[in-house]
Amino acid sequence: MGVYEDLGVTPIINASGSVTRLGGAPMPRAVLDAMTEAAASAVPIERLQGRASVEIANATGVEAGLVTAGAASALTLGAAAIMTGWDRGRMESLPQTDKFPNEFVVAREQRSGYDHAVRAAGARLVEVGFNEIVPGAGVRRTESWEYEAAFGPNTAGVLYVYTPDSAPPLVEVVARAHKHGLPVLVDAAAELPPRSNLVDIPATGADLVAFSGGKSIRGPQSTGILAGRRELVGPAFAQLVDMDDHPSLWDPPAELIDFERFDGGPPRHGVGRAHKVSKEEIVGLLTALKLFAAGAYDEEVAGYLPRLERLAAALDGAPVNCTIHDSGDGESFPILDITVDESQAGRNAFDVCRSLRNGTPPVYVGHGKLAQGTLVVNPLHLDDATADTLARRVREELGAD
Ligand SMILES: *Cc1c(COP(=O)(O)O)cnc(C)c1O
Repeated sequence: MGVYEDLGVTPIINASGSVTRLGGAPMPRAVLDAMTEAAASAVPIERLQGRASVEIANATGVEAGLVTAGAASALTLGAAAIMTGWDRGRMESLPQTDKFPNEFVVAREQRSGYDHAVRAAGARLVEVGFNEIVPGAGVRRTESWEYEAAFGPNTAGVLYVYTPDSAPPLVEVVARAHKHGLPVLVDAAAELPPRSNLVDIPATGADLVAFSGGKSIRGPQSTGILAGRRELVGPAFAQLVDMDDHPSLWDPPAELIDFERFDGGPPRHGVGRAHKVSKEEIVGLLTALKLFAAGAYDEEVAGYLPRLERLAAALDGAPVNCTIHDSGDGESFPILDITVDESQAGRNAFDVCRSLRNGTPPVYVGHGKLAQGTLVVNPLHLDDATADTLARRVREELGAD
């Protein structure tokens, strides 16, 4: 019996990738070993985050960094730091922000459920641009002048959600914001790989960038990275760490904090105290970041395409159409689309997806294209045995045997 069976919870075959609701990415053995070792000793978390700042700075080319409780936590802490700076009174008042600038300008087309993390710090989002492409009422995307037109006395900064397709380009938005002395907070949670993005996104001049630690970096699922200017990462750190040290003894890490920035003493527990990160999580994330940045996962990724081709071949004769999407960049995962011939199968893709989840063993395929009749297979968690089981289960559900 394993730990999950002991608890009466059945492990699944995950064909959905590093999604949070299925527990994130598989952690490499070296990460698990580092976490086990880290858990066996006690260290001051502040010293560890100070060192993490140097490691993250080296990997991303920024001044400072912080290990957070996920990219969403990095967004809350980043928004908090932008609104408070080093002001203890402001830190104490969060998420109450009506006495100082609290607005973040964001493109309407970049809104998502994840911006709740920014609002959780007390920020108010001010939308610019239209979604006119969606209703077919126009062809224009958000333009950078629209951000500038929205800046006013209550503007604290800009929120930008980075994807390869984001518009307008981040560099343009950074230029507009910096012209007015406003910082830009970037959600780049899922933009790794390519690993060049670790450096390229901060190199746009964006002030703070959030990455997930539990997606392609393969660190602990509940970790993330906030990377950027020390002037902002410092206040983010102060609002994350436990502040219950004696004020006359508090000795913050010089990598992140100049003590004199606080007017006479340390702040109290900040809005991020609820986002605490453990020593073993910090060590796990830093270990994984080193592996990811060094290309240590490339060899494994090279095996994904043949595995998906085998899987597609195993579905031969079933009422499906298989297509593999592969960027061929050697870092991004190839993805297999299994499109169900709904008339021949007599069932739609939602129905098949639900039956796969409820079967033995439970199989969770990607659900992003079910409305188009497609089951999406992400190879991150698959090996040859689980890929074979997945193929068998799909054949069974479609009555192909
Ligand atoms: C995954 C994701 C997040 C949240 O990241 P966590 O590390 O799970 O907190 C935020 N924004 C976007 C765009 C994401 O894809």
